[in-house]
Amino acid sequence: LALLGPAPGAPSCPHGPALLFVKTSQGKEEGRRFYACSACRDRKDCNFFQWEDEKVSETRLAAREEYNRNHQPSFTHRQNVDRYKNFVLLPLSKRRFCQECQQLLLPAEWEKHSDHQFLCNITTTQLKSPSQLLYPLENKKTNAQYLFADRSCKFLLNLLIDLGFRRVLSVGTPRLHEMIQSKASQEEEFNVRSLLLDIDFRYSQFYTEDEFCHYNMFNHHFFGGEAAHEICRKFLYEENGERVIMVADPPFGGLVEALASSFKKLMAMWRETEKEGHDNKEMPMFWIFPYFFESRILDFFPSFSMMDYQVDYDNHALYKHGKTGRRQSPVRIFTNLTPSMIVLPEEEGYRFCTLCQRYVSSDNQHCEICNSCTSKDGRQWKHCVLCKKCVKPSWFHCSNCNCCTLQKHSCEKTDVGCFVCGKAGHKRSACPSLSRS
Ligand code: SAH
Ligand code: ZN
Ligand code: ZN
Ligand code: ZN
Ligand code: ZN
Repeated sequence: LALLGPAPGAPSCPHGPALLFVKTSQGKEEGRRFYACSACRDRKDCNFFQWEDEKVSETRLAAREEYNRNHQPSFTHRQNVDRYKNFVLLPLSKRRFCQECQQLLLPAEWEKHSDHQFLCNITTTQLKSPSQLLYPLENKKTNAQYLFADRSCKFLLNLLIDLGFRRVLSVGTPRLHEMIQSKASQEEEFNVRSLLLDIDFRYSQFYTEDEFCHYNMFNHHFFGGEAAHEICRKFLYEENGERVIMVADPPFGGLVEALASSFKKLMAMWRETEKEGHDNKEMPMFWIFPYFFESRILDFFPSFSMMDYQVDYDNHALYKHGKTGRRQSPVRIFTNLTPSMIVLPEEEGYRFCTLCQRYVSSDNQHCEICNSCTSKDGRQWKHCVLCKKCVKPSWFHCSNCNCCTLQKHSCEKTDVGCFVCGKAGHKRSACPSLSRS
């Protein structure tokens, strides 16, 4: 399956304009092109489908519009902001949160939710950390909500502050946004601001329109229309020299080209806020994504480089920092900032390589032949003279395949690229980037 990108005049589903796809075989387009939902890769979440050349009748169009209207959240953002204002006026004993509907309840609504599970005595602290109150939407294919471990979140925030940024466009990073918002409300001298862009509308219960935009990062769709666009544009305008950075942590399921296209549009929004056009500079950005997407990201953003820092998560079984020893997280920071400026914590073993002019993980050795610190996954890699590059420590050179690979592998070449890393030669189940012993 290949993405042909956002097409002008594309039909819409409840998640905004659909994306154009085509089936491919051996790199060639095969069959009819079709539109499908940009946000949901699971048909169960949104089953929008239309052939590119399909004639859609007026009746069907009208029905679709009605369907899209009916599939919007039951309260508007404005209504949720008003509800919140009323909620905080309630005494603690009357502050309830319905766990089934994931909604703050006003006393008049208790009745309707009487057979639902709810939490009582919602404190101001809880209201300031909605990512703890809401359950993470872990459904792999759509939201894939994996929340930063506190350590990683603090690291990111301190890094941004040390780099001199005062505004953060938080794209799919509710926990970073929340840390900024909550510090800003508690510490007087804390002067960083954040705007959250996320598809998870539950957050509209906790933030005003100036703090949260309901946004789809796969098609650059602002659900709040022009007004929301304008809020974002205003936020990106750097008043009083307050510099902005975009931090995005998208679901890892792929569609890198769709993400890249949206991020470029956000960067263009930033560029257009300055009359002088920011001297052709790029908006500073952190794109948080697994290391095995490095080449895909660099295809779209040649100015980016990958940092060695391993981003840890709370609710991700594989990627979290265990109590005993550490599991290696494959998630990294890709940035267009100068690598030497990204200072990684020495107490976690990162060190500065003067030859590479960047911080690297403790086991990442500088290879004299490659003239670079070559490890991608944090383990020490070894140089293969035949492949003329460094490879994973667990790999061996297979003379049959004429490349380095896992010792256990079938030598027949598979045509289709791997779903995870996109490389040919193996299937998803055998993807070396996921292997850990
Ligand atoms: N580590 C981050 C969360 C990353 S999980 C943190 O702790 O703050 C991915 C985030 O992207 C989730 O918040 C999810 O709601 C959001 N998301 C998923 N699909 C999206 C889409 N199509 N558009 C915008 N945001 C999306
Ligand atoms: Zn949809
Ligand atoms: Zn080096
Ligand atoms: Zn090497
Ligand atoms: Zn082989």
